[in-house]
Amino acid sequence: MSGDTSTPSGPTILIVEDNELNLKLLNDLLEYHGYTILATSLGEAAVELARQHKPDLILLDIQLPDISGLEAARRLKAEEQTRAIPIIALTAFAMQGDETKVLASGCDVYVAKPFNIAELINMIARYTSKKAAVNRLTVRAALTDCAG
Ligand code: MN
Repeated sequence: MSGDTSTPSGPTILIVEDNELNLKLLNDLLEYHGYTILATSLGEAAVELARQHKPDLILLDIQLPDISGLEAARRLKAEEQTRAIPIIALTAFAMQGDETKVLASGCDVYVAKPFNIAELINMIARYTSKKAAVNRLTVRAALTDCAG
């Protein structure tokens, strides 16, 4: 086990979560599934990490100690360099109207805590493979251009 030096090479996920136990759970779970993890407990840091590292997906808690997840999502979607990164919002409060607010902020989808782990893993796989599919289409389009 300690001799295993394989480096993770799967899609990179930025986890934004201020609850330590949730963060550890998500980190261990996603690492186990082969993802590379970046993590922070703060909204401002999340925006900065996203700019620097261009993760393939962001898991974004809505209730954070500094700026809210909604504000972080608005900033990420307002910038060209981070706009295309899918955001899965995680929220503990599920009141009527919240989903609308979350989606209006620019988050792509909304998951209420406590989340179902299998469903979350499936959702993450869908969003990260969608990006791979788009990349393949782009390559094909480029090849077609060359042929013409
Ligand atoms: Mn929180």
